[in-house]
Amino acid sequence: MTTMIQEDKHGYCTLCRSRCGTVNLVANDALVAVRPDTSHPTGKAMCMKGKSAPELVHSADRVLYPMRRTTPKTDADPGWQRISWEAALAEVAQRMLQARREGGAESVAFAVTTPSGTPLSDSIDWIERLIRLFGSPNTCYATEICNWHKDYAHAFTFGCGMPTADYRNAELIVLWGHNPTNTWLSQAEAIGAGRAAGAKLLVVDPRETALAGQAEQWLRVRPGTDAALAMAIANLLIEANAFDLDFVRQWTNGPLLVRSDNGRFLRGRDLGLADGDAYLVWDAHAGQARPSSALAGRDFEHVALRGTFEVGHTTATLACRPAFDLYAGECARYPADVAAQLTWVAQADIRHAASLFGSARRVAYHAWSGVGQHDNATQTDRAIACLYALTGSFDKAAATGSFKNPRTTRSAASTCCRPRKRARRWAMTRGRSGRPRRDGSPRATFTGRSCTRSPTPCAP
Ligand code: SF4
Repeated sequence: MTTMIQEDKHGYCTLCRSRCGTVNLVANDALVAVRPDTSHPTGKAMCMKGKSAPELVHSADRVLYPMRRTTPKTDADPGWQRISWEAALAEVAQRMLQARREGGAESVAFAVTTPSGTPLSDSIDWIERLIRLFGSPNTCYATEICNWHKDYAHAFTFGCGMPTADYRNAELIVLWGHNPTNTWLSQAEAIGAGRAAGAKLLVVDPRETALAGQAEQWLRVRPGTDAALAMAIANLLIEANAFDLDFVRQWTNGPLLVRSDNGRFLRGRDLGLADGDAYLVWDAHAGQARPSSALAGRDFEHVALRGTFEVGHTTATLACRPAFDLYAGECARYPADVAAQLTWVAQADIRHAASLFGSARRVAYHAWSGVGQHDNATQTDRAIACLYALTGSFDKAAATGSFKNPRTTRSAASTCCRPRKRARRWAMTRGRSGRPRRDGSPRATFTGRSCTRSPTPCAP
């Protein structure tokens, strides 16, 4: 008779990025059941996918061993043959080395699957290490239509992906097209904790999600009109001067002057300055344009955000407006009555949402699939990001911050890739031209200087 040995093993679910803490019941080396580990920081709850892990692990359809195809790809029957791990690894390595010998490392392009829908999160560093040490600068990442806008529209705006929301300590929690009760349980739990500590909740969603039903305000936006709603709320904040003026002056590119003749930022070279790359702002106190890099301390108080200014040029004058003035002008195209017609959200509700934003200085937000899976999603996410930047909560404690990683030695540190190769990566070359850098330290998108709080282009 076989003795049944049952044991609880603590771990975490790897089936998505939430990584919920779990207690795994193992009986005679078989995973039998998975339940939440309430003692784990992200283990207060689990979804059905995580609880179904035993079905996945022990599925008869699961591929457990390397298989070699023995017929041409045109053949309906692949003729799979089981081979050993040693044979599979040796064959793959030999082919990679052959490709590198014959065509150079750059002839090999690697593709990495998504960490959102596969258990890949914890392996990514090791895969990148392999790619970099192999010597190829070519990596193609899969992303979903829910990810692109969340990550890249924010990177285009903040210089980094959407920062991490500190729901537990926020004053106002904003969920925009995001339903963490179903999709990110550790966030849902943190939102519950924040609510219990007094945070207000604003939900923008066409559907009455569980959290929408509990929110101080639920904006039932007409699908696909979220950008108009974001612009309308931003317009109300600007009209009422209820935005964080210091933050906008000091940490965004809102003050930078934009030439009216060509729509480009005014640069030092336009005025014959020694620093030709300098961006310029209008110093209302001095009544002249100054390089933004020369500003310090109380100088920012005199930086103009609104108006049109004539800047002396070598031969003539150039009419320029601060980027913020152009942004405010765009927002003004969406007064509450117009936005109400477009979005089907009542004017009073739009105004109330603006007052929630305007009165909170610690706003934690997350915008996800509801925004990303629609037309014009990138610009919509940017409109939401700019609205959020007005609150001054970017990278602020107890709001939505760019948390520093613990000090560790990364297995895929960028030094694994030789400088010459790194320079040939698309993201590296684009980074200098003001596009987001996906590796290394965040950089100011318009100055090229490192900075902790990446400036937020409220770009025209
Ligand atoms: S949300 Fe579900 S799938 Fe994702 S880690 Fe938690 S239990 Fe696993």
